[in-house]
Amino acid sequence: MIEYICNTCNVTHPIDTIRYKCDCGRPLNLKKTSTPFPIEPIKKRGNTLWRYHEALPIGLDDKSTTFVDASIISLGEGMTPLLSLNGSQRDHRFKLDFIFPTGSYKDRGASVLLSEVKELGVQEVVEDSSGNAGAAIAAYSAKAGVDCTIYCPASTSKGKLAQIAMYGAKLKLIEGNRAATTQAVLQAAETTYYASHNWNPFFLEGTKTVAFEIAEQLGWKAPDQVICPVGFGSIYLGLYIGFRELHEQKIIAKIPRLLGVQSAACCPIYKAYVANAAEIKRSPQTSETLAEGITSELPIRAQMIMEAIHETHGVFTTVDEEEIKAGIKTLAARGIYVEPTSAVVVKGFDKFVTNGIIREGELTVSILTGSGLKATDKLMKLM
Ligand SMILES: [Zn+2]
Repeated sequence: MIEYICNTCNVTHPIDTIRYKCDCGRPLNLKKTSTPFPIEPIKKRGNTLWRYHEALPIGLDDKSTTFVDASIISLGEGMTPLLSLNGSQRDHRFKLDFIFPTGSYKDRGASVLLSEVKELGVQEVVEDSSGNAGAAIAAYSAKAGVDCTIYCPASTSKGKLAQIAMYGAKLKLIEGNRAATTQAVLQAAETTYYASHNWNPFFLEGTKTVAFEIAEQLGWKAPDQVICPVGFGSIYLGLYIGFRELHEQKIIAKIPRLLGVQSAACCPIYKAYVANAAEIKRSPQTSETLAEGITSELPIRAQMIMEAIHETHGVFTTVDEEEIKAGIKTLAARGIYVEPTSAVVVKGFDKFVTNGIIREGELTVSILTGSGLKATDKLMKLM
């Protein structure tokens, strides 16, 4: 049986259609029973993240033994390429996690989350995001036949709103800053299922599959380190959960170091890391940044991010705007077109090499999280 658990209070709550946080106000995790991870059968399955269904909290019949394929809401997502690019002195590979139906890795989380929504019999969801998560939740809601309302700041660029609206989601444009949008969606979440990519633990159950794929693509081995952009941390925490599960199952010998990159304009996690602080404090964004997808002033799952840093000997760094632009161009010159948020990993990698975190002979995987086609307006200004 799967339940919600608060790791702070150590209290469990039944899976519910309205509850999205613990009574103490903190986000919930899933308490699951561990299921064997069957490598041989997995090899013969289709190339989607559902090949790992034993590790996903969806599609079990009443006796929790047989997988029921009809439960899943899938658009064929997952098993994205893992690529070596020419030009690096080190073994640095890129996980092309923008090759997804909606153009970002957020489809991993949306596929699992909307499958849960369908299993619960929920007909209507709300979410707040003006970016990739909003598009992913809208697309998978369309596939599931579920009513979806996305709350966005009124200032959101029209291109992004178009993708969300085209999937048939209702748009609620909220005047004021991002906090006003959050307030509006939380009010709606009192009566409607909150399909939040930050609060809802089923979303992380999807993003964790990136770790499974990397391990499988490396012959069931973990790389020495994985680099990713970090805002609210949904890919960073997905990597942590996924590699930890593989390690618990004794499929990989070690959990890779998880290296996070933030924009210098908004970097609360980096600040906590360099100060060796016990917790992450809110840190206001200081200027505009191209890496708009990772401008989180205080991550909702801050405590779990600190745990992931501690457990994996993780390291954080920042990149400035010129470094982000250089990253975009370096990748594009090798045929890879990503949105600015994704490109932070390029100079992040260089910094980790310079400061001795990444050493000779080690294998590093960087996650490229979103397509350049998502950010045409911003990228046009860099021409
Ligand atoms: Zn609690």
